[in-house]
Formats: sequence, structure tokens, C-alpha cells
Amino acid sequence: MFRALLALLFCLPAAGCGEDNPFPAGSTMARIRDRGVLLVGTKFDQPMFGYKEPSSGRIIGFDAEMARMVAKDLTGSERNIRFIETVSRERENFLTQEFVDLVIATYSITAPRARLVGFTDPYYYAGQDILVRNGDTRINGVADLKGKTVCTAKGSTSIDRIREDVPSARLVTVDAYSICVPALMTERVDAISTDDTILLGLLHQHPDTLRLVGKPFAREPYGMGVRKQDTAFRDYLNGLIARSLRDGAWDRAFKATIGVTGAAPDRSKPTAR
Ligand code: GLU
Repeated sequence: MFRALLALLFCLPAAGCGEDNPFPAGSTMARIRDRGVLLVGTKFDQPMFGYKEPSSGRIIGFDAEMARMVAKDLTGSERNIRFIETVSRERENFLTQEFVDLVIATYSITAPRARLVGFTDPYYYAGQDILVRNGDTRINGVADLKGKTVCTAKGSTSIDRIREDVPSARLVTVDAYSICVPALMTERVDAISTDDTILLGLLHQHPDTLRLVGKPFAREPYGMGVRKQDTAFRDYLNGLIARSLRDGAWDRAFKATIGVTGAAPDRSKPTAR
């Protein structure tokens, strides 16, 4: 008790805060441990992955569970976490400007992004799919998007793929996917296209009015984003991801979140190293 009080009084962040910090001095892990709170960039409008529950303000979903796992390992409690809303186009900025320690936000690992930020190994595999109005029988695959109006988010891989695969589609681009839903329901757009994870969450909110086409046309490996030079933090996170795949934590997070939509874990779960 006395020692803890002393530590609190005299613990200067630059000093590494003494013996009870198990992480290498000067590392991002040690800094977060000393600060006592993990700052995570995540989505707030994607049910099942990163969603701010209106009634409680709690952030729920698979990405939120992964973030809590990191907070627990670093600080001793999953409650030592601050979620900061990070929409698709802001993920690289929020890392390089140091607004967040890491980004866990349906963030696909791509070569252009990896020039700006560091990525962990994949912790989830999604696939790009299409969401339409339930009564609309015209769209049953990516080729049917020709000449149609498609809503998706700025700064996403989803935009690039529609541009490449269906150049005649008319793109409506927004900051966050939830903005596409009223546009789809009021027939201002014909479809929403992005990862099946996100679309399943949106469908879950409107099961009677919307329909998932269900033919994923690209594989999206999700990584946790860190600052580019911070290989020690990346390696530490890779260790945590590998452990979660082996010890059942990944499966529990899946079952409690995206799993309730009927998504198949065998397609999404990376193989444990
Ligand atoms: N996973 C894709 C991406 O990172 C699409 C989903 C999103 O925008 O978060 O761009």
C-alpha cells in the first residue's frame, strides 16, 4: 500500500515508473501501462464490430473486444480504455498525429497503407459484399452494380474495388457507413458495398427491409494499425493475437458479437501460429 502510494507520487512517465511495469522501458507498452489507459481508434457506427450503444454509451463489437483484450493485458483491466471514433479516412492520420495508440477499426491490411502505418498479422478475414433493399431483385452480384448508384465510405478499400471492378457504377461516398442506410431505404442509392462484417451488422438492425447479396468478391484481412516504426508494439500485439486464437478468447469474442448474425467463423478466423 505504502509502496503503491510512493509509486503514485514519484512515478514520472520518463522514469519508466519502477518495478511493477513489466514492459521494456521506453516502449509503447510501458508508456501505456504508466498512463493507465489505452487509447484506441475504432468505429462507432458498425454494429457487431465497433458500435456505440445509444442507451449505455458502451462500445460493443468484435473490434471492441479485441481492444479490451489489449487493455487488459497492458494495464490489468479491460476497463482502462478510451475509445476514440475513427472513421475510415482518418485511420492513418489518427495514428501519425498520435491521437490514438492503435487503430482497431475493420482496417484492411494493404500495401499503400503499410507505407504510412504498421500492421499486425491479420486477426480477422472479411469479404466485400453488397446490401440492397429487400424487394429489389435486380442486384445479385457485383456485375449487377453496372450503372447503379452505390454508397460506400471515403478512404476505404471498398471504393477502390468498385471503381476497378464496375467503372460504370455511380459512387456516393460518405464518412461513415451508417449514413448509407437511410439513403438506401429512401431509394437515393441502389446499394451499399463494403465488408460483409459491416453489412451484416447493418442488416441486423433492419432485417425486414434490407437484404445481403451474400457473394463476397474480395478478401479483406483486418490488422491492428500502429505507428510505422513501432515494430516492438506490433510484435507484442502479434503475440496477443496468436494467444487469443489458441486460448479461446478469439472464439468467445466472435460468438458474443458477429457470430450472432450467423457468420461462419471458419472463413473469418486466421490460423493460429
Ligand atoms: N475493410 C475495408 C477498409 O479498411 C472497408 C471497411 C472500412 O472502411 O472500415 O477500408
